[in-house]
Amino acid sequence: MKPNDELDPSRRPEERTFELSLRPKRLEEFIGQDQLKQNLRVFLQAALQRGEPLDHLLLYGPPGLGKTTLAHIVALEMGATIHVTSGPAIERPGDLVGILTNLDPHAVLFIDEIHRLSRPVEEILYPAMEDGKVDIMIGKGPAARSIRLDVPAFTVVGATTRQGLLTGPLRDRFGIVTHFQFYGAPELLEIIRRSSSILGYRVDPEGAEEIAKRSRGTPRIANRLLRRVRDFAQVAGLESITKSIADTALDALEVDDLGLDRVDRSLLLAIIEKFGGGPVGLDTLAASTGEDAGTIEDVCEPYLLQQGLIQRTARGRCATARAYAHLGKPRPATDGTLPLD
Ligand code: ADP
Repeated sequence: MKPNDELDPSRRPEERTFELSLRPKRLEEFIGQDQLKQNLRVFLQAALQRGEPLDHLLLYGPPGLGKTTLAHIVALEMGATIHVTSGPAIERPGDLVGILTNLDPHAVLFIDEIHRLSRPVEEILYPAMEDGKVDIMIGKGPAARSIRLDVPAFTVVGATTRQGLLTGPLRDRFGIVTHFQFYGAPELLEIIRRSSSILGYRVDPEGAEEIAKRSRGTPRIANRLLRRVRDFAQVAGLESITKSIADTALDALEVDDLGLDRVDRSLLLAIIEKFGGGPVGLDTLAASTGEDAGTIEDVCEPYLLQQGLIQRTARGRCATARAYAHLGKPRPATDGTLPLD
């Protein structure tokens, strides 16, 4: 298993079941992202008061921060049904027409990886989002004609890891655009406490703190690490997760003090050792580490940037002084020579 599998939507079914059981159902159970929640609460209440569906909502942020969870919460808070799909799953325009014409009134249509919708599919979506209409072609050749169908008023909740990948016209059709931030230690601590009580396994405050610290600001990782650490604690015959067993387990899982895993460290090492600290282009970095460029950009980089371990410049990625210090590597002087100490 790759270290970043926890961020992969195709991860193992048992992990999905576990995730589902931990997923907050209501907005008040959703921990953190306070500004986003505060605004959303107003928009939900206003839409409910008017008896209208919520405006189309775009959720933007790295994997595992709660976008899917929030889409389900929006549906529940609106008392609406939810249809879940994803950009790559809607292959042809006809597939989307089928989905749209079968939605319940005011339904939430959750489209994960919305930046991966094909152009022809997007073109069906625009008039549906704007005017509640879809245009479909009947027949072929000279006899072909277009007919317009009404679709019930609905809300698109789109999720994307990178806003920059969305086409302008699609982005413009979202009335509400929200950015997810990495979670701070206090919020992760709360998530770990909540999850451990659902799991029915005690976790000492210092044990929870250790897991929170190494969770990359990401609830999905916090939950996954909690589950793995519990395995270690259980096998060691402990009744609760202590700091010491959390340390042992997380070291065994190769998750370091900053929450970096093997892939993160190999990226930093490549920048430092193979490219003199950078700048190095994304594709070169991907080729030299054997990682997928998309995974580096969507999964690894946001956290490395947030931690101040890399910088993105017009000419590529550079390792910062903090990265050298974290990996215990001597930093070359500006003239390229290595310091003697
Ligand atoms: P995304 O769609 O952004 O990849 P998910 O919504 O699937 O992320 O979240 C992953 C898991 O993390 C969820 O199953 C849930 O258990 C947990 N989670 C995410 N955000 C929160 C939160 N704010 N509070 C509590 N748990 C959360």
